[in-house]
Amino acid sequence: MAKKIVFTCILPNGIHARPASNIEKICNGFISTIQWHNLRTNIIVDAKSVLSLISTNTLLNDKCHLLINGQDEEQAYIRLNTFIENELPFCDEELIANNDEEITPLPRSLSNLNPHIIRAKAVCGGIASGILKQIDYIDLNKLDAFLPAESIEKEQSIAKNALTKLQKIISLQIDCASETSKDILSAHLAILEDPSFYEQIEQHIEQNLTAGAAIINTAKFFSEQLINSGSEYLKERTLDIRDVCLQLLQQIYGENKFSTHPKITEPTIYIAEELTPSQFLELDKKHLKGLLLAQGGTTSHTVILARSFNIPTLVGVNIDILKKHIDQKVKVDGDLGLIAYNLSPEVQRYYQLESHLHAQLTEKQKTFINTPGATVDGIKIEIAANIAHSIEAQSAFNNGAQSIGLFRTEMLYMDRHHEPSEDELYNTFCQAIEAAKQRTIIIRTFDIGGDKPVNYLNIPRENNPFLGYRAVRIYQEFLTLFRTQLRAILKASAHGKLKIMIPMISSMEEVLWIKEELANIKQSLRNEKIPFDEKIPLGIMLEVPSIMFIIDQCCEEIDFFSIGSNDLTQYLLAVDRDNAKVTKHYNSLNPAFLRGLDHIVKTVHHYGKWVGICGEFASKGSVLPLLVGLGLDELSMSAPNILATKARLAKLSRSDCRILLNKAMNCQTSLEVEHLLAQFRMEQGDLPLITSETITIEPDWLSKEEVIKGMTDNLLIAARCRYPQKLAEDIWLREDVFSTALGFGFAIPHTKSEHIEQSTISVTKLPCPITWGDEEVSFVIMLTLNKHTAGDQHMRIFSKLARRIMHEEFRTSLVNSSTAAEIETILKQELEI
Ligand code: PEP
Ligand code: MG
Repeated sequence: MAKKIVFTCILPNGIHARPASNIEKICNGFISTIQWHNLRTNIIVDAKSVLSLISTNTLLNDKCHLLINGQDEEQAYIRLNTFIENELPFCDEELIANNDEEITPLPRSLSNLNPHIIRAKAVCGGIASGILKQIDYIDLNKLDAFLPAESIEKEQSIAKNALTKLQKIISLQIDCASETSKDILSAHLAILEDPSFYEQIEQHIEQNLTAGAAIINTAKFFSEQLINSGSEYLKERTLDIRDVCLQLLQQIYGENKFSTHPKITEPTIYIAEELTPSQFLELDKKHLKGLLLAQGGTTSHTVILARSFNIPTLVGVNIDILKKHIDQKVKVDGDLGLIAYNLSPEVQRYYQLESHLHAQLTEKQKTFINTPGATVDGIKIEIAANIAHSIEAQSAFNNGAQSIGLFRTEMLYMDRHHEPSEDELYNTFCQAIEAAKQRTIIIRTFDIGGDKPVNYLNIPRENNPFLGYRAVRIYQEFLTLFRTQLRAILKASAHGKLKIMIPMISSMEEVLWIKEELANIKQSLRNEKIPFDEKIPLGIMLEVPSIMFIIDQCCEEIDFFSIGSNDLTQYLLAVDRDNAKVTKHYNSLNPAFLRGLDHIVKTVHHYGKWVGICGEFASKGSVLPLLVGLGLDELSMSAPNILATKARLAKLSRSDCRILLNKAMNCQTSLEVEHLLAQFRMEQGDLPLITSETITIEPDWLSKEEVIKGMTDNLLIAARCRYPQKLAEDIWLREDVFSTALGFGFAIPHTKSEHIEQSTISVTKLPCPITWGDEEVSFVIMLTLNKHTAGDQHMRIFSKLARRIMHEEFRTSLVNSSTAAEIETILKQELEI
């Protein structure tokens, strides 16, 4: 008696390649015939074929039957019933989690223009424009030029061989893939193993086509079926078919003829589901202007590389929506996290102003490229870069790095199927040495394990990876791996200034064991007469709190320390650095943490050794005064932060910073420390309220949005505010309540805000009037006064100005002024400042 399972499809995206491959796999485990019947489309197919299942066009809420007939129908019925009830609902889990909470609000100067945008998570800043292209996209219609067909048998054997080879390759890839990739690869394998897929290829070859042409026609055949489906999602799954067919073509005709990324000759923004670091490296950087990825996080290696090449990058991008804009010009905003398309002239102008701002800032900071980091009172602090691959070294030095403070080598072991050889590592380190030109590089031995898995090492997953089997703790098991790395570093040390640093050290036992290993490797190199730096310094990451209490003992054995604030914060405060639920507790401004840092630096210096910091805390501009107060020898950070840090450092005095740190360590809460820092910034230097730097004569600004943006951006350039968009928002909030146009062509936008560090009166004399609320305005005086220090100054200046503007003489003198200096003098006199 045949069996029937009656059910409703509850998958939001219907039966596409991934769920179909799960169904097919189960069905193929039974001898009975199993058919899938979609009652809505009335299509009945063999459930043992992925492509047939996809062709049923089964969508959400479709009523379906599974019809089972044969000798093991009872077992098949039970298994499939369990599958439909318990497993099918989870076959289609979202590949990407939404990170809405990390989306930066749009500035009004952009949102008021109603731009066409798609939001995503920004992981590498900057703005880029170019033509949108997709990697992995193959246009089937353009792929039909082939040599004449040989015999049918020959072509069939070519196709069959390619099919078998690719099946093997994908099976191997599945073994070492992440869960997400595994699902995708399994779906691809299922297509290749599907009898109806090869049948199609065979049929086309029988019509005297080459294997290649037959594969293309097969791809077209199945793609059309999917495209005719009622589901947008299923339509997009043609990518799976195309992907598999492309790989088959590459097997037969070589990768050059069927490259996955088109040759580009103009500025291009690439979109891709995901991109491996090696694929990224292959892209032509001359024309690659921006990168949009569906997958990938802030610390994924492709993203780390994109940062080092300064390529504005977004992740979590909805590729399905974006595909509609392929071959069109788009902008990528890596600061706000958006892609803008169908650009209106106003939106284009917004981005011109942004580019202008970036260019001005870069120009200003350029003076610091070759200067060493130093405070205003002459205390030198080395400003170094963190890198994850040697190819980043050159751009780090170009960005002003004095040295490499952290070379995270684990990336050299990731995204591949086997470990790098000693030669490969040696060459990589020599490449970095060449870029360094006698500047120091601290190479951290691999920090593999825990949250940084390397599949081929088969380290089992753990419940608590950060407290688990990682870094130095795995070296004894993977001794050859560790020794090979040490040999490569030592050999490279013959050519430049290298230092070795060991991650996650928590005891003296580990320090002593490492020293013994290092001594043995040195001895074997001596025996082999291979040169290396005999005095290569050995240091440890200071990131496990136990080390804070044995610094004296460590100082007897090692040469330096680098504080890993990312891990030290999580271990000292017992708060997982990756757990969103506890992020509010993950705060390096916690006074206990600051006291810990102070203890470390004082003790290390007491024993005459060197200490730097290389966690994210070191790149946070807002905490720089605390780091200066600590008296660290070096700050190591991602390269794009270096110039801004040197510029800020040059304005700080070590003694003021020390007083600040002492106050911060006596605070009871992190919030108090934040307030202290905010206040400290305001009090710095006590700049005059009016300066010609923020007086702009006849700029090319055409609207209220552009004026407010231009004036707040100028405050950033003048180093009076760090977050101009936040300051502009405070200005707009007041404009929302009432327009500040006061008549006579004058407007006085104003705010008392925490986002202005130095209270300022800025002025803009416009060449032509613009609309400001209901009025026309051609002279703008903007008051931005600091919330904490201004007291009642805000209202006093505002009312004084409003009164003066009533006088024609005052207005005329301002309107007739042709230089910033003239306006500065008039305002200073009239306002008695
Ligand atoms: C740190 O812990 O601060 C650090 C720099 O190491 P990682 O982020 O690689 O763990
Ligand atoms: Mg660490």
